[in-house]
Amino acid sequence: MIIFLIFLLGLTFGSFANVLIYRIPKKISIIFPWSFCPNCKISIKWYDNIPVLSYILLSGKCRSCKTKISVEYPLVELLSGILAVLCYLKFNIYTMWIFYNFLFVLLVISFIDIKTTEIPDILSYYLIISGIILSVFNPFLGRDIFLRISNSIIGGIVGFLFLWVIEFSSRKIFRKLALGGGDLKLFCAVGTHFGLFSIFKILFYSCVVALVYVLSAGLIKNKKIFGEYIQFAPFVSLGCSFYILTL
Ligand SMILES: [Zn+2]
Repeated sequence: MIIFLIFLLGLTFGSFANVLIYRIPKKISIIFPWSFCPNCKISIKWYDNIPVLSYILLSGKCRSCKTKISVEYPLVELLSGILAVLCYLKFNIYTMWIFYNFLFVLLVISFIDIKTTEIPDILSYYLIISGIILSVFNPFLGRDIFLRISNSIIGGIVGFLFLWVIEFSSRKIFRKLALGGGDLKLFCAVGTHFGLFSIFKILFYSCVVALVYVLSAGLIKNKKIFGEYIQFAPFVSLGCSFYILTL
């Protein structure tokens, strides 16, 4: 029963994730106005704004202008619900919010990165800071409060520096940018949430997922993908989710 409630709560937060994904890159206020159809601008009634369900009932079309609604909306809601359940199953009702907060914002970042190839600074900074604040309650960072806070801060610094070294050397050796500045801040946030020793594992998992994707996409499309810029944030999200599963 509680799992079902957590899933519903995750779906509802997923609706909010859609608002953030749509509005942050466009610099529209995230609170006002109420959700509207991107095509006809008519504001969406509450009964047409129920996560996933409304999409199915409206068969994926806007009620007033009949424009197709992107499948991305119910997908984000569903992913948000699944992440909430994952956090509940791996942690407990009290500590799950530390990690759900992280994965939720990472979900938003991933979709913004896919669409705009940019990671909004405000979201990275939010994650870095929330990681340090929540570290007080984070049992995976150490036994006492002092250990937890220091592990979080050191993790953040090392996460940033480690990615910076990779970035710097790839720029020197290959004369090419391997990572964006957003990825550095993202790994700073990984460090403040999971601590010093998690960074290398999470980076490894993220790279493996990215490599599998690049290779299979290359095989399917039968064209060269290396050399193009690939957005790294979605792979970091998958890497972190996988890391949480192994905790
Ligand atoms: Zn419409």
